[in-house]
Amino acid sequence: MSLRTRIQLSITFLLVILLLIANTTIYLMFKNASIKSEQELLQSTASHIIEELNKGGNSTNEEVLHTFLISDGVIRLVNRKGDSDLNLTRENSYKKIQTSFRNDQFEGVLTYNGSKFILVSTPIIHDNGSIVNLQIIQNADGMFSNLEDLKGVLVFTSFLVIGILCIAGWVLGGVITRPIHRFISTMKTIEEEESYQQIEITKSKRDELNQLGMTFNSMMRKLEDSYLKQEQFVSDASHELKTPLTVISGYVSLLKRWGSTRPEVLEEAINSIESESARMKFMTEQLLQLASAEKLGEFAKERMDIVPIVGSTIERLSRTYKNEIIWTTEPKQIVAEIHEQSFVQLLVILLDNANKYSNDVIQVKLREQEGCVELSITDKGIGIPGEAQPYIFDRMYRVDKNRSRKSGGTGLGLFIAKRISERHGGSISLISKEGHGTTFIVSLPISEVQ
Ligand code: ADP
Repeated sequence: MSLRTRIQLSITFLLVILLLIANTTIYLMFKNASIKSEQELLQSTASHIIEELNKGGNSTNEEVLHTFLISDGVIRLVNRKGDSDLNLTRENSYKKIQTSFRNDQFEGVLTYNGSKFILVSTPIIHDNGSIVNLQIIQNADGMFSNLEDLKGVLVFTSFLVIGILCIAGWVLGGVITRPIHRFISTMKTIEEEESYQQIEITKSKRDELNQLGMTFNSMMRKLEDSYLKQEQFVSDASHELKTPLTVISGYVSLLKRWGSTRPEVLEEAINSIESESARMKFMTEQLLQLASAEKLGEFAKERMDIVPIVGSTIERLSRTYKNEIIWTTEPKQIVAEIHEQSFVQLLVILLDNANKYSNDVIQVKLREQEGCVELSITDKGIGIPGEAQPYIFDRMYRVDKNRSRKSGGTGLGLFIAKRISERHGGSISLISKEGHGTTFIVSLPISEVQ
C-alpha cells in the first residue's frame, strides 16, 4: 500500500470514528432530552389531575378526568388486574393500547399500530378506595418524526464529511508524499545514470523532508568528491607507474639492439633499470602504506611512552642520512595512545622529507602542550612556497614535480602523514618559508599518565 493511501486511510478512519461517536452521542442525548421533556409535561398534567381528585367535591373521577382530556392521547385508570376502569380518549382505537398496573410511578415509550406513545403512570386511590394507576398516554409521532429528521441530517452530514475527508486525505497525502516522489525519481536517475545529481529543495522550509533532502545532497557531494579523488588517484598512480615502465621498456629495447656489442650501453641500461624499478618498488610500498593508513581505525591503539620510540627511530635513520639530527624532549616520558607502527611511519615520512629537501642539521622537538603531545621537525632546506602550502597534504601533490621525481618522491608521504595524524585524533600543520626551511608540527591528544 502506498504511503499516500496509508495517510489517506488513517486520517479518514480516525476522523470517521470520531464523527460516529460525536453524532451518535448528539442523537442519543437529544432523543433522551426530548422524551424526558414530554414525560415531564405529562407528569405535570398528572399532578394537576391528582390535585383536583384530592380536592374531593361533588365531581366524580370521570368528570375530573374529562376536564383534562388530551387531544391525541388517552387518560385512563388501570386497576390491579390490568383492566381499565376509565378510558377517556377522542380516538377510540387508542383504548386498545395495552398497559399494565404497577405499585410505583413509572414512565415509558410504547408502540401501537406503528405509532409511538409516551406513557406516565402514577398510583392513586380510587373513589371506591382501591389503588389504581392514573395513566396518561400521549401520541409522540411528531417528536419521533423530528428525531428521525435529525438522524437523517446527521447521517447525511456524516457521509458528506467522510467524502470531504477522503478528498482532503488524498490531497494531504499528495502534499506530504510529493517531495518523497521527487527524492525517489532523483535517486532513480542517479542509479540509472550513475551521476551525483542533487535533489531540489526549498531553502525557506525547515521541515524534516527538507532536512532529509539536505542530508542526501551533502552525502551526494561527499560521494562525488570521494569518487573524483579516487579517479584522480588512479590516474595519477597509473601515470606515475607508467613513467618508470616506459624508461625500463626503452632500455630493454636498447639492450636488445646494442647490449651484446656495446658494454657502455649495457651498464647504463642496467643502472637505469635498477633505479627505475627501485622507484616503482618504493611507490608501490607507499601505496600499500596508504592503504594501511586508511585502515588505521581498525587497528588497536595502545598507551605507551613515545619518547623511546622517537629516539630509536632517529638513531636508526641517522645512520643512512646525509644530515645530522638533533632531538630534544620535555618531559622525559610522554604516554600517549598510539598505533606504534603508524606513528613510526609518520615520523619517517617527515624525517625523510627533511633529509631530502635540505642539506643542514634537522631539529626534532618533542613536548607536552595543553593536553597534547607536540612533535616538530625543522629543517633549514629549500622551504615550500606559500601558494603550494594549502595543497601540500593533498594526495600526489608535489611542489616541483621534476625535482621531487629525481629525489624519488611520489607526493604520497604527506598525505599519509595527515591520515595517520587524523586517525589518532590529532592534526598536522606546517610553517615554511621558501629558501629558509620548513617546520612540520604534529599534535596528538595525550593520555593521562597512569
Ligand atoms: P614526496 O614523496 O614527493 O616527498 P610528500 O607528500 O612527502 O611527497 O611531499 C609533497 C611535496 O612537498 C614534495 O614533493 C615537496 O615538494 C614538498 N615537501 C615536503 N616536505 C618538504 C620539506 N621538508 N621541505 C621542502 N619541501 C617539502
